[in-house]
Amino acid sequence: MNEQNKLLRKLPKIDIVLDNFKDTLGGAVPKTILKFAIRETLDMFREQILTGERNELPEDEAEWNALFTKAVKLKNSLNLKRVINGTGIVVHTNLGRSLLGQESIASLQKAGTYFTNLEFDLITGKRGSRYSLVEDIICDLTGAEAAIVVNNNAAAVLLSLNTLSFNKETIVSRGQLVEIGGSFRIPDVMERSGASMVEVGATNRTHQFDYENAIGVETALLLKVHTSNFRVIGFTSEVSAVDLATLGVKHNIPVMEDLGSGSLIDLSPWGLPKEPTVQEIVKAGVDVVTFSGDKLLGGPQAGIIVGKKDIIARIKSNPMNRALRIDKFTLATLETVLREYYDFDRALKSLPTLSMLTSDPESIKKKGKKILRSLGGAVKLQGIIKLLPTVSKVGGGAMPEHGLESWALVVDPGKSSASRCERWFRSRTTPLIVRIEDNGMIVDLRTILEDDIPLLLAILKDFLMLGKNN
Ligand SMILES: *Cc1c(COP(=O)(O)O)cnc(C)c1O
Repeated sequence: MNEQNKLLRKLPKIDIVLDNFKDTLGGAVPKTILKFAIRETLDMFREQILTGERNELPEDEAEWNALFTKAVKLKNSLNLKRVINGTGIVVHTNLGRSLLGQESIASLQKAGTYFTNLEFDLITGKRGSRYSLVEDIICDLTGAEAAIVVNNNAAAVLLSLNTLSFNKETIVSRGQLVEIGGSFRIPDVMERSGASMVEVGATNRTHQFDYENAIGVETALLLKVHTSNFRVIGFTSEVSAVDLATLGVKHNIPVMEDLGSGSLIDLSPWGLPKEPTVQEIVKAGVDVVTFSGDKLLGGPQAGIIVGKKDIIARIKSNPMNRALRIDKFTLATLETVLREYYDFDRALKSLPTLSMLTSDPESIKKKGKKILRSLGGAVKLQGIIKLLPTVSKVGGGAMPEHGLESWALVVDPGKSSASRCERWFRSRTTPLIVRIEDNGMIVDLRTILEDDIPLLLAILKDFLMLGKNN
């Protein structure tokens, strides 16, 4: 018998393990999970033996039990975990983009716990429209005539193009055929929407006459895309929203702008770049504007479409809308978030995205000093964790080259490497996600929440102990 077969025969039998295990974890784990986790562990061993990756087995039963326990615990825990965002990227698409404030969480809980008037008109007692819950608020805030909300901004763009330009032409500048992370590409979305794309201008420059020369009997829409995640610099020119809207009026063709981040507040007084606000684009006369709910707006994932009454009415009656529609939890939180914008000062404080984006470096530094103090003198003596200035990013494809002055805990990986440390921090019960820069590990404090601090402290203390013991 060869080595492989010998090892395979030595693997514990699943029924025996199950029998030994059924009370081990206090009987609190569903039997099915026990069975799956143990089987998956044994399957993995079998696979590794057969491929030659493994040529020895755990020494004794205790070692096996530890392995099975780990597998069972992992399978029995939620896949969606809270993490600590130490990247300093405020709108981090991979970490869930915008966070919700207290008020929104209360609305979320209400929508989940109780029946609501989601699609029920309390005045007439008849069926109502879910969109009416937020439409007036969005119109108040943006100055638009009408609005509708859908699953996300990608859906908003798809739905608008499909409604306005199906089997017809949409004219768009070559400089705006963008790709947003996660495989959203304007040309591809346009194709799927049924609109045929007519590209005009050059990568760096497009003029009003380029659009005008391309207008023909098949033209149904003039499209502008906010190039939110990159910047063309140097000899450039693009047609302003006002000029494109003027052209649209002249030729009686609707004009649409995909604004991407869609801020309602000009954040330039807080040192961020001047981005066009939704209100400005509406005022410029653009007929349809689409933007995200969870980028600079700081709300739940959603796509918001605002514009002229007749156009929004057409979008609302598009049957595709049903497939892209917004759910009750999103509506509940979106309404709460939007209401904060009736008072900009309040929005800047209560919406976590806005408050993180506008927090001043001094207060971030203070947070760092507090953490260092709690860690105690050991840190200073060992010099392993230092408080240093850094630069954070907005994220979410917004304001790409703009850095925000910030402060970070810079962790010296010592004899280990920065990437090994990064993995260690990432594998904690509450994972800490960090940035690696110049072979050092950076915990940018801009995105560390007050609630994160006790957990962060525990992780850093563990890390220091680890260093001491090695
Ligand atoms: C982010 C973005 C999108 C996609 O929005 P989601 O809300 O992620 O679906 C579309 N267009 C532009 C210009 C964007 O910046």
